[in-house]
Amino acid sequence: RPIIVWFRDDLRLSDHPALHEAASRGAPVVGLYVRDEASRTLKPPAPRPLGGATRWWLAQSLRALRNSLEAIGGTLVLRTGPVASVIATLASEISAGAVFWNDIAQAPHQAIARDVESTLASDGIASQIFPGDLLVEPKAIRNKDNRALRVFTPFWRRLQGLGDPPKPLPAPKKLTSVSGVASEDLGDWRLEPDRPDWAGGLRETWIPGEAAAQARLKRFLDEGIHRYTDNRDRPDRDGTSRLSPHLRFGEISPRQLWHAARFAAAEDSRLAGDIDKFLSELGWREFCRHLLFDVPDLAERNMQEHFDAFPWKRDARALKAWQRGLTGYPIVDAGMRELWHSGVMHNRMRMVVASFLVKHLLIDWRAGEQWFWDTLVDADAGSNPANWQWIAGSGADAAPYFRVFNPILQGEKFDPEGGYVRRWVPELAQLSNDLIHQPWTATPIELASAGIQLGKSYPQPIVDHKKGRERALAAYAKIRRKN
Ligand code: FAD
Repeated sequence: RPIIVWFRDDLRLSDHPALHEAASRGAPVVGLYVRDEASRTLKPPAPRPLGGATRWWLAQSLRALRNSLEAIGGTLVLRTGPVASVIATLASEISAGAVFWNDIAQAPHQAIARDVESTLASDGIASQIFPGDLLVEPKAIRNKDNRALRVFTPFWRRLQGLGDPPKPLPAPKKLTSVSGVASEDLGDWRLEPDRPDWAGGLRETWIPGEAAAQARLKRFLDEGIHRYTDNRDRPDRDGTSRLSPHLRFGEISPRQLWHAARFAAAEDSRLAGDIDKFLSELGWREFCRHLLFDVPDLAERNMQEHFDAFPWKRDARALKAWQRGLTGYPIVDAGMRELWHSGVMHNRMRMVVASFLVKHLLIDWRAGEQWFWDTLVDADAGSNPANWQWIAGSGADAAPYFRVFNPILQGEKFDPEGGYVRRWVPELAQLSNDLIHQPWTATPIELASAGIQLGKSYPQPIVDHKKGRERALAAYAKIRRKN
């Protein structure tokens, strides 16, 4: 009897434990993706609705998955509705013998999966759940109170101590399927914007899908990895893997990355240091997901409760200036414009713009987290809130609140020739390197010869750095005294 493979954040054929097992049984396989808006409203805790950029990515990724499945004789069925009833209906239509899926170690997804399991069991249909999109399941790394570790370094040591994760599984070469199964039309799901079509920058920047993810990994290991440690903090260089959205949608698995990187290190021992650094970044992804497993409301609640009393400012005008890249700080504006255009932002810039919002503008980290959630193609339920809380100082293993990034020095240090600012803030392109990170220090003649009218063609700083810093420290002192 046919087996249904329920796809979620694992839109790939290789190293897909559920698909691998289904294919190896020799039975017909029907791939299914469910658009479930009903379970979200009916059953708390709910999976978070996708933002605009991730909806766009999902549409491309589903198309790529459908093509890859069809190329080996399989099929991808799209259906809408509460997952449990959609799967039960499809199972009865095709007389399925079993439903397989990979785990997502997040409370809302597991709650829905349990519902699916019990609905199927009551219809006499077997379900089987396989390891998910983590190197190590959260239950494997706990402290003595049976909680996720709150500090990265011991977490990473423990993870490494568990040894290499299992080797990735190959993609099935051939599938048999069931013909004539009704599927909804992806276009009807309206995942992509049309009026206005704001996705041009995403199309220019990205090719979603498993094949593109594999190609990107190969290119990174061939060309980028040997300078990773030096280049990873430089937004003006193409120095990181840019695999995060592919990982977000499971177009590539972390253990595929792990083993490919280890293999590269074994081939060339000079790469060892860069590869360890790269793997530790994957470790951060795990760390954030393990936290999320314990703290499902990570995007809503301060992990350190004394931050509940923080005197955040409600300042819609400042928030808008930040979102649009019009704060008057070139490095902040470059980061925010890169995000708006391409759905991504370099990690160093994410730290700088997040610190600026939370500290210079005193705006609640949740407003920034939500903006990132809507605009990032890699918006991740664990990494996004965990990193925001890290910057805000309210999180686990957080940077102390009083460490305020200086946007001028950050620009000068990590974009020393101003290439990143020139690319994303073209109205400043004619300024010299020593002025580009602080145009307000230029003389009227220098501004005029660079074609800039400060306050008109480019804003004055929304807040003075020194005053902003002092104001942030004063606000923090108010909650610190209470503890
Ligand atoms: P590489 O340097 O090539 O790293 C490889 C992989 O390691 C990444 O793809 C990612 O999966 C993981 N990784 C790297 N840094 C981190 C980190 N600090 N935390 C968790 N995982 C990491 N990353 C997301 O994937 N989704 C998010 O929603 C997200 N939001 C963030 C918000 C803020 C405020 C900050 C400071 C960071 C955020 N990050 C997020 C982490 C990081 O910025 C991105 O993972 C990274 O920029 C992706 O680029 P890359 O794939 O080229 O990274």
